[in-house]
Amino acid sequence: MRSSCVLPLLVLAACAVGAYAQAPVYTLIPGFDKKVMDTAADPCVDFYQYACGNWSKLHPIPSDSPYSDEFYNLDQYNRQVLRDILTAAAKEDSARDAYTQKIGDYYASCMDESAIQTKGLAPLQPELDRIAALRGKDQLPELLAHYALINIDAFFGFGSQQDFQDATQTVAISAQGGIGLPEKDYYFRTGEKDEEIRKQYVQHVTNMLKLLGESDAQAAADAQADLKLETALAKVSLDVTSQRDPHNIYHRMSRKDLQALVPAFNWDRFYATLGGPSFNELNVAEPDFFKGLNEIIQQTDLSVIKAYLRSRLLDTTPGTVLPKAFDEEKFDFYARKLSGTPEQQARWKRCVGSVDGALPEALGKAYVEKQFPASSKERALQLIHDIESAMDRDIGSLDWMSPETKERARQKLHLIANKVGYPDKWRDYSKLNIVRGDAFGNVTRAAEFESRRQLAKIGKPVDRSEWITSAPTVNAFYNPSMNDINFPAGVLQPAFFDPAQPDAVNYGHIGLFMGHEITHGFDDQGRQFDGYGNLKDWWTEADANKFIQKSQCLVDEYSKFSVGDTHLNGKLTLGENTADNGGLRLAYMAFIARAAQEGTDVHGRNADGYTPIQAFFVGFAQDWCAQWRPEMERLIATTDPHSPDRFRANGVLVNVPEFSTAFGCKTGQPMMSASACRVW
Ligand SMILES: [Zn+2]
Repeated sequence: MRSSCVLPLLVLAACAVGAYAQAPVYTLIPGFDKKVMDTAADPCVDFYQYACGNWSKLHPIPSDSPYSDEFYNLDQYNRQVLRDILTAAAKEDSARDAYTQKIGDYYASCMDESAIQTKGLAPLQPELDRIAALRGKDQLPELLAHYALINIDAFFGFGSQQDFQDATQTVAISAQGGIGLPEKDYYFRTGEKDEEIRKQYVQHVTNMLKLLGESDAQAAADAQADLKLETALAKVSLDVTSQRDPHNIYHRMSRKDLQALVPAFNWDRFYATLGGPSFNELNVAEPDFFKGLNEIIQQTDLSVIKAYLRSRLLDTTPGTVLPKAFDEEKFDFYARKLSGTPEQQARWKRCVGSVDGALPEALGKAYVEKQFPASSKERALQLIHDIESAMDRDIGSLDWMSPETKERARQKLHLIANKVGYPDKWRDYSKLNIVRGDAFGNVTRAAEFESRRQLAKIGKPVDRSEWITSAPTVNAFYNPSMNDINFPAGVLQPAFFDPAQPDAVNYGHIGLFMGHEITHGFDDQGRQFDGYGNLKDWWTEADANKFIQKSQCLVDEYSKFSVGDTHLNGKLTLGENTADNGGLRLAYMAFIARAAQEGTDVHGRNADGYTPIQAFFVGFAQDWCAQWRPEMERLIATTDPHSPDRFRANGVLVNVPEFSTAFGCKTGQPMMSASACRVW
């Protein structure tokens, strides 16, 4: 299960040395930004418009992005910082330390577009030869094990995970996969827009196969067969909403039972090729998928499987290391058509992202040294502690929860670990070989290095100090199996976090995220895990029923929102909406308590005309100032557990009486709900 975070899991479009000189330079945005406000708007009618009304004018969507918001701005700023680090690291110098050599040479190889273009398909040829050499479906286990190692997504995924039932241990996991469209429903939804996307996808696969040298007719026939195969995989896959329930994706099974479920695939040979530690049981996340996979393998011609594998190989290899025509074709479908983005990002931005993905703790180490002072970590920890204290008081004040469940909720709260800034110990990359001039090989070796690191954990105790995200990441997470919140150094910067700004602004901005992540431990998904990260029910039945009733209020509220003709999925977004609502309440409580402790008058107007309480709410809403391309907004609304930004602001504030008091809103006005929801 993926961790819950504050940001949509974007399908980002992932170009030349020196080109960045003409590119826009991103600067940090202040936490309370009066310039983006539309003060002519009535805060009680549409607070998002009031706090963010001028955002679009001042921060138009760049041509290489599907959106613009404060996350995007900070991410672009961070990329500039990382580019400077990498440009310096790329200078060949025998005095470079091992970390610097690896990040520098990886970056230089990725940036060398002309070398990549000159090599053409040669680096990929051994992979294409492997597919061509398949003489029967019984040879799939070796090929798919190789794909699992080098991170090519075909048919299913394999790796390790923290055991849901015993969070101290790591188990092997096999999970559904292998489809090229964003989600199961993309293969089945009816309507003009969805039929158009499927047509475009078939054209995309056709184009990729033609670039590989297939005739027009052959490529078109292969692409149709590929869609049929992927549709069969999608049909037996679990949808995104059902995946939110951990019970739906946890099925411990013996190797023997999995073999009986999928007799058409020799699992022993698959494991032997992977070469990880031996094990007897694994989590077969979605048994129905694997049951269906058996039939799909049996009933699909080898020639169709080969075309499918070629298409998956090309689509899941990073475009930066492929010849330009392939890279452009991938961009055209996945970014231009699916998210409406007109232009590819500059190559340096994509190469920075690629180093961050391949060598997260080598680049992260250099980033933290340059960008993240110890004082920021201390201040962020103080904010988190304030918000955890607020949660403790909040639990105590709930009128719907029994003392017994309250006690357990508090136990869980006090066991949350706070990961702030960067890991205590940096990962060792000495066994990963990065070769200057071998962009494709670097990507493949880094993927294999990471897969083997993951596989080596099977059957071992969990390392609770491990970080799952890189230090420069502009996002935050809660991980239910670890019961920890993660605030990388990358997000602890303006506009979200600014030690130079007053408390009102910091509690409204980053404080909201901190409350949001803590609340994830108590949302529809997180509440099913105990304080140690075990999937174990700690609720009395009566309290669990009350929780579900309270949550239904949020399901109903958000289901009424829509973007274009697409309604939000109130169930899919329930966890994030619960975290947004709970997060704001906790941040507000912490802010008021801190102000009382420091003798700050939260009702008096500051020189800028706002009371600290008003500044807090404006800061909160500005977390979500954004502009999205319509294609991207639709993509998010149909696949992502986060609600689109404007609802993340207004959808929460209508439930908060302290907000209406601060802005003098009255019953009957749109920003005051007649049936306010409150879970936490
Ligand atoms: Zn979240």
